[in-house]
Amino acid sequence: MTKKIILAQTAGFCMGVSLALRKLDQALEKHRGQNIYTLGPIIHNPQVLEKYASLGVNIIKDIDQPQPQDVVVIRAHGIPLETENILRKRQIQIIDATCPKVKKAQLLIQKHSSLSKHLLLYGEPDHPEVRGLVSYAQGKTYVFDSLENLQKLNLNSNEHYFLAAQTTQDRKQFYAIKQFVQKKIDPYLEVLDTICDATKNRQEEAVQIARQVDFMIVVGGKNSGNTRRLAKVAQDQGITCMHIETKEELNPLELAKHAKIGLTAGASTPDFIIQDIYNFLLSLPGGK
Ligand code: SF4
Repeated sequence: MTKKIILAQTAGFCMGVSLALRKLDQALEKHRGQNIYTLGPIIHNPQVLEKYASLGVNIIKDIDQPQPQDVVVIRAHGIPLETENILRKRQIQIIDATCPKVKKAQLLIQKHSSLSKHLLLYGEPDHPEVRGLVSYAQGKTYVFDSLENLQKLNLNSNEHYFLAAQTTQDRKQFYAIKQFVQKKIDPYLEVLDTICDATKNRQEEAVQIARQVDFMIVVGGKNSGNTRRLAKVAQDQGITCMHIETKEELNPLELAKHAKIGLTAGASTPDFIIQDIYNFLLSLPGGK
């Protein structure tokens, strides 16, 4: 059986991730001999993190760990404002590798927030980007990951709100949430455009490929939110979809059953892993 493999053009690093890793590489070059830390993982990919750990980059969890002569690189997802302020006060050298689009979302939230206007943030409550975003708001903040969960919140139609999203969220859902809030809670709701197009384009291509294949592989860290959503978007097209981190998770016997296989990857998946899996799929009997 001939096996057709379709590789997504949008698979792999987005601009924000490439930029963050470039800044980390430059820091390693420029600050040889100094301790280099990232506050939380620089990106959500275990293979990339292993590489940097072997080069001496430490992930700090305790804010007191770095000393004034040390360098802290802020990850692509950004960090809470209070944390950044603590580091600055302690005169730790900071290299800000926050993705420019996440930075824009943080600053938009800061600009539109006031004590009497509360933030409605469509995002994953425990995601580091979301923890960073809410720190830029002054009033109350409400974080929810679906319209259903927003409906469970105790929102008051006498109060004013503004709506934003984690950069990697789904635009259609965001639109439905906006409609709901404007209709039921706050007709004057302000809506901030914080969703990143890299995610939308990647998701649209995944949908398009998923419609042409009978099996889909989505590659990326299991803890990567954008990869998990990418897998869901593909699966919603009614095909079997596997979210994997490396080639070793694939079962050749399972793959042998499928004539058309689609392959895409999240924004924090390095090229060498995607290429490794693509070559493996091409090497299967009938692969092309
Ligand atoms: S997905 Fe978009 S917002 Fe997130 S790091 Fe990449 S470019 Fe930045």
